[in-house]
Amino acid sequence: MPIIRVALDVPLSTLFDYVVSVDTQLEIGQRVIVPFGRKQVLGLAMEWAEQSELASERIKPVTQVLDDVPPLPQELLTLLRFCSDYYHHPLGMTALSALPTRLRTVEPITLKQSLEYALSAAGKALDVATLPKRRVVQQRILQALSQIPMSGAQLRSLSPSAPAALKALVEAGWVELCAPVPRTAHVFNSAHMLTAEQQQAVDAVAQQAGYGCFLLHGITGSGKTEIYVHLMHEMLQRGGQVLLLVPEINLTPQLENYFRSRFPDVELVSLHSGLADGERAQNWLKAQAGEARIVLGTRLAVFAPLPQLGLILVDEEHDASFKQQDGLRYSARDVAIFRANQRGVPIALGSATPSLESWYNAQSGRYRLLRLTQRAVQPATLPIVRCIDVNQLPLQDGLSQPLLAAIEARLQRGEQSLIFINRRGYAPVLMCTACGWLSECKHCAGKLVLHLKDRTLRCHHCGFQQRVPHACPTCGDADLKPVGIGTQRMEETLHSYFPQARILRVDRDSTRNKGAWDAMRKQIHDGEADILIGTQILAKGHDFPNLTLVGVLNPDGALYSADFRASEKLFAQLTQVGGRAGRADKAGEVIVQTAFPNHPLFQALRAHDYEAWAQTLLAERQMAGFPPFVYQVLLSAEGKQEKEALAFLHQARVAALNLAMPVEVYGVVPAAMPRRANHHRAQLLVQSDKRKTLQEFLRAWKPTLDGMPAHKLRWSLDIDPLEF
Ligand code: ADP
Ligand code: ZN
Ligand code: ZN
Repeated sequence: MPIIRVALDVPLSTLFDYVVSVDTQLEIGQRVIVPFGRKQVLGLAMEWAEQSELASERIKPVTQVLDDVPPLPQELLTLLRFCSDYYHHPLGMTALSALPTRLRTVEPITLKQSLEYALSAAGKALDVATLPKRRVVQQRILQALSQIPMSGAQLRSLSPSAPAALKALVEAGWVELCAPVPRTAHVFNSAHMLTAEQQQAVDAVAQQAGYGCFLLHGITGSGKTEIYVHLMHEMLQRGGQVLLLVPEINLTPQLENYFRSRFPDVELVSLHSGLADGERAQNWLKAQAGEARIVLGTRLAVFAPLPQLGLILVDEEHDASFKQQDGLRYSARDVAIFRANQRGVPIALGSATPSLESWYNAQSGRYRLLRLTQRAVQPATLPIVRCIDVNQLPLQDGLSQPLLAAIEARLQRGEQSLIFINRRGYAPVLMCTACGWLSECKHCAGKLVLHLKDRTLRCHHCGFQQRVPHACPTCGDADLKPVGIGTQRMEETLHSYFPQARILRVDRDSTRNKGAWDAMRKQIHDGEADILIGTQILAKGHDFPNLTLVGVLNPDGALYSADFRASEKLFAQLTQVGGRAGRADKAGEVIVQTAFPNHPLFQALRAHDYEAWAQTLLAERQMAGFPPFVYQVLLSAEGKQEKEALAFLHQARVAALNLAMPVEVYGVVPAAMPRRANHHRAQLLVQSDKRKTLQEFLRAWKPTLDGMPAHKLRWSLDIDPLEF
């Protein structure tokens, strides 16, 4: 009887053999239920086996083949194998973690028949102009449907009140549901004439036959999104599917509506962890069926099956959130590049501040560099960046005189200001003025952050929280002082300086509730806020035309950080926030309060010279022997007992040295956060100047690691790590 090898969600690097009775229909890529231990578990049929290493009487039969959804395509299975190999993560866990949660359960899935709305005979006969004027949304829907039938989602993008209007139209008998008609052409709302630079970029990618990786380096506001739109149009005309990866869930609903408005009758789905399980599975299956022509998603979307994939786009390619930090620690950007290569299609990586890895690849000719040097909307220019030397101009409550004056000027002119501060809470720590006691987390090597709103001290690492004590726990003194500035404290300070101003704080605390951030964004757009105080949530990809000032409060920590990527990140972040200022007809200004105004980072920021900055950083990295000049793997271990974690790592280190391969093996060191949630954390770094050598080393080293006793520990390998 035939033997099938099945991927299971267990931490072993093998597949598992099962027999299939001859009258069972089973295809590779199908989900199956199989016995494992005493349980019945879900697996994925990966390959047929000639024979098994197990004695035939020990091989159990497949319990059930799930045929509610079509089998996963071979191409995806190949991609999963590549990820498992490259990231040295068990194949079964890799394969199953790529599936939407709903497909990992055994309950059958009923595919929703996607219906469309169309005008009925009565609707076609109706003269839209005879409807009362106040029924604008109804009119808009009828107008749209007179062109072409549309899905509910497409109609919803027309207006927030579209569902109610649609209901009324259906009740009136003017609109009806029907099965979708297959279409070849699509409507394309070409909003802008491309600039010459944009056109060149579009042409270069569109003319690429087969695989090619393009790095689209465009200053903020240069119209990268417009390039994506035109490339999508091109690929849709050729019958291809397009995958667009974006870093943040926050941004997807906005972008989704935007792309729908540009392609009103194209089936577009999004894939991200903010979707309900059922919806995510439906969207994934629509992608797999080829029905969804545009797939917009966060990193997990890189695994969506796309039978007609013609182009991959990665927006803000430098963003660290493309890297998964647990389980399969993959970089969605890197997997996307592999996928484009495997599939033989072009891929474009867009950013105003490319990662040094990508920039280096563009310099060496592995990627093709496309430049956008001008802002798309004339006369919008880049903001003027000023550094305030905090050694010369002392701060009051964290604010300098010039920044206060600049905010005041914006208030006078009815324009918006953004104060960027990457610390949520009221103050990063609480201190006793009598004995110097600091609020520390019992469970972590970190400080408890003061949150005054609910009078708690909270650990941002492990979630521990407690009431603010009335007196110092060590000496009993009642004089406890907040030290440093968080977003809540800045909000309070700005209220006291500008009592009339409408202040909006945007951070993880204020946007936690569903819909809160959407509501705030609307407030900002509608001009209902004068001063925004925000963490990086505010920095990314938003377009606030009335915002003309960005104040950056205390960026200096990153300049001399132990993390060698900190200054790269800071430059990207400041370019992003700065890019929020002055996008429309108003010039923007960025004011940075720093003790190091002459640092090369700020010089480059003032000159808007990413390229010079990238050259400086690359030279430093080459000298120091850091990525992108070397490839790294980080072995991390954590456990309740520090000595156990260390012993494991030391043993791993000896094993690495014994392999005597041309890799550099560093010493065992504590993690940047040496204790978290009562676990001691340490790590071991290994690197090589060749990716291939590092991979060979890992293939030799990993089995030893797997064989080492580690029952009280958690350990993991992170290939191409971003966090240490
Ligand atoms: P980026 O993603 O590079 O920051 P966007 O794509 O958001 O830039 O474009 C910035 C603004 O310029 C948007 O409002 C967009 O509609 C507009 N825009 C883009 N391309 C053009 C063009 N060719 N002509 C006029 N406006 C454009
Ligand atoms: Zn004290
Ligand atoms: Zn903690």
